Amino acid sequence: MLDKGIIPDKEPIVRVGIHLPQDESSTMTIEFPEPELFEITSNDGPISIQTELNLRVKDGYIDSDQGSNKNFSKLSILRKDQCISLKHGPIIHSVFAGRGFHWQKQIPVQLPGNIIIKIRDGFLFTVNKVPLEQYLMCVATSEMSAKCPGALLETQTIAARSWVLAASEKKHMNLGIDTCNDDCCQRYQGIATLLPEAIKASLSTRGEVLIANERICDTRYSKCCGGRTEDNELVWKTEPNSYLRSVFDGPEDMKIDLSDEGALRSWLKSQYDCYCGPKYVSVDDINKFLGKVDEIDNYHRWSVHYTQKEMVKTISKKTGDRFSSITDLVPMLRGRSGRIVKLRIDGRINKENHSVLLRSEYQIRKALSPDFLYSSAFIIETNSSKDKGQSEFTLHGAGWGHGVGLCQIGALGMALANHDSKSILSHYYQSSALIRIYD
Ligand SMILES: [Zn+2]
Ligand SMILES: [Zn+2]
Repeated sequence: MLDKGIIPDKEPIVRVGIHLPQDESSTMTIEFPEPELFEITSNDGPISIQTELNLRVKDGYIDSDQGSNKNFSKLSILRKDQCISLKHGPIIHSVFAGRGFHWQKQIPVQLPGNIIIKIRDGFLFTVNKVPLEQYLMCVATSEMSAKCPGALLETQTIAARSWVLAASEKKHMNLGIDTCNDDCCQRYQGIATLLPEAIKASLSTRGEVLIANERICDTRYSKCCGGRTEDNELVWKTEPNSYLRSVFDGPEDMKIDLSDEGALRSWLKSQYDCYCGPKYVSVDDINKFLGKVDEIDNYHRWSVHYTQKEMVKTISKKTGDRFSSITDLVPMLRGRSGRIVKLRIDGRINKENHSVLLRSEYQIRKALSPDFLYSSAFIIETNSSKDKGQSEFTLHGAGWGHGVGLCQIGALGMALANHDSKSILSHYYQSSALIRIYD
């Protein structure tokens, strides 16, 4: 596994979780378009490969539909020759994309590298061991379409490389993997959609990472900041990071502080010169350039409306407090991007007043939507023309995601306006330097 604080001097192997125990997968199908390129061994001996292999969990072991009736606990799918072209690879079916989000679905993924399948917590646990640069080629096209301008793919590749090597988050350390295949870490959907542009972006930036204070930068990114990025410590309650400061996402630094409610209100109604706004990236461009599993919408500015009944149902379900009415949503603290990081929900349970305090942008986005709200940078309009207990709510918001670090739609806007990857990276990660750590 990759270690936090260690800068590798040669290309490392990354362990990527494909099926996690939390997916509760108890069956899986693997297709082998070219079975002769691989060998499969289990801890019970080799397995002959046909074009398809079906596995299932049986009595705590893995059972296969190929030959031997014996059960095993570990299966390795190894490439006979690691140098064979990237386009060959087994296809694993029913892999989760967008786990827990409103766009969650199951997709087939074709994988480079080697694949290890084990049992963990009673379910199938699949790990892909892949050289870092091959992993990055797949991340670049999974996060964004390969039709994107070259500068954007290079930017995305350097950010993804730095993030994985910084290894700051380690969200799945208990599973012994460096990263998972999904939005929780970085979106990785294998080689099926890999195009020459993504391979080129990896080759032309091979080994390049952002460095600050002699460490590889923890290069966070999100889909759309909404016009101003957020300070990292407000989103994750970590130490402030010099290269993850809130920046205005446009060519001119408008010294606008959206933690002020009034400033945010007028900001949401105005058209500023923002890289992630329609002047640089039209909604049609977003559709054309975003990765395949995203829904199409205008994430720079959005609104959602809830009736009293919808609000009560959603908040009660998400917070576990069984409200009979919701009377108000009160922002208690905002960051400079306008994101609310502390919100009080006022209402009644039966006839008693009751309040809940949400203490992070993540909790807020989760609680105020049946799925997941695009961002917590919103203002609240309460329709008070009706009875107080019957108020309806409209949220007018900006951006999609936590808003810290690089704004992917803004980076696209910069690339479309002919900025190169170095200038895009230094715009979002100020006070960082780009260096090459291996050839
Ligand atoms: Zn993850
Ligand atoms: Zn932006």
